[in-house]
Amino acid sequence: MQSKTKELYDQFALQNYASPPIAIVRGEGTRAWDDEGREYLDFSTGVAVNALGHCHPTWVKAVQEQATQLGHCSNLYASPLQGDLAKRLCALAGPGRIFFCNSGAEATETLVKLSRLHGKKLSGREGQRFQVVTAKGSFHGRTFGGMSATGQEKTQAGFLPLLTGFSHAKFNDLNLFSDAISEDTSAVLIEPIQGEGGVHAATVDFLCGLRELCTARGILLLLDEVQCGVGRTGTFFAHEEAGIIPDGIAMAKGLGGGFPIGAVWIREEFSNLFQPGSHGCTFGGNPLACAAALAVLDVIESENLLQKVRDLGIWFKRELQGLATRFPSLVAGVRGQGFLLGLVMNTEVGPLVAELRDAGLLTVPAAGDVLRLLPPLNVSREDLQESLQVLGSVFKIKLEH
Ligand code: PLP
Repeated sequence: MQSKTKELYDQFALQNYASPPIAIVRGEGTRAWDDEGREYLDFSTGVAVNALGHCHPTWVKAVQEQATQLGHCSNLYASPLQGDLAKRLCALAGPGRIFFCNSGAEATETLVKLSRLHGKKLSGREGQRFQVVTAKGSFHGRTFGGMSATGQEKTQAGFLPLLTGFSHAKFNDLNLFSDAISEDTSAVLIEPIQGEGGVHAATVDFLCGLRELCTARGILLLLDEVQCGVGRTGTFFAHEEAGIIPDGIAMAKGLGGGFPIGAVWIREEFSNLFQPGSHGCTFGGNPLACAAALAVLDVIESENLLQKVRDLGIWFKRELQGLATRFPSLVAGVRGQGFLLGLVMNTEVGPLVAELRDAGLLTVPAAGDVLRLLPPLNVSREDLQESLQVLGSVFKIKLEH
């Protein structure tokens, strides 16, 4: 990293992140370049944000053109793009309504607020029924709602007391979720695939069982698809594989393809729980963000990316399993679906991420021992092959030392 950037970071940036090892200054497709001109194959994609890779021409054109028309107007006024995007998302999720925000944490926060409104309606009283059951190992964001919903102590450490009203049951264990639901429960909130928690996928039986359970108990089934949604698993929403319809879905990350936007879909019958004045977001549904998200949806459709993710995702996972077989002392297994994949390592993953970066491949660590591979949805087979070569040669060097 150039010394000026490092000095500025060291002196002025809040030290809430680990010290960044490189500065990325340019991107094109699957490639990113640092400020010293080094090229990388970027399978970190801004942690599942750059769904179309860097600077896809359709995305660039949409943002550029919108910037010449209108950069922002508040939600005091209607924006045609917001209407278009809401309609497109409802066509994908089902009959319902959309709330726009800027981030994953705001989206999950909105689901938590929805659960409170639902609980109030069920019990007829404010503050009576507000328990939300979430999963151990989950991650739902850094706001107080998201952090309290999160099933990992390391995210919460230092910020106690948390919001009351959350309990955490073992992921994929329907009986334990059932036991955790009480007369005070208003919702269940889970990620169909836990990303930060180490790439753990919910089973179809678990998702279907939760749907039945929530319907039977009159509570909401809320899904956090912030990381696993927007095509990453080969269907637009990860839960589609189970054929269920949830009551609320949080989205962000890939939705804007690199432009900050979050969204919440709320099933029609619960969408009137929010009344005028009960919730809002200054930047929510900003025209530039909506233009970017509409471009992402257009490209997913026009380039048939869901099918491509399904096909190449199966092939890539099989190849990764081959690597695990070749290097059993290093790799314990492969988890995930589509292009949300994790290599489960037998050792701490931090040093490996650095070694891969030095070899030209950007990846993301998760849960201490999982190497996340998050290629853009439009990655080519050649790029996937290249990543396998880099992984193979770095593993080989590791074994030799
Ligand atoms: N929910 C999930 C499943 C996530 O993976 C994340 C971020 O990693 C969030 C919520 C929070 O999103 P953001 O960082 O945009 O607030």
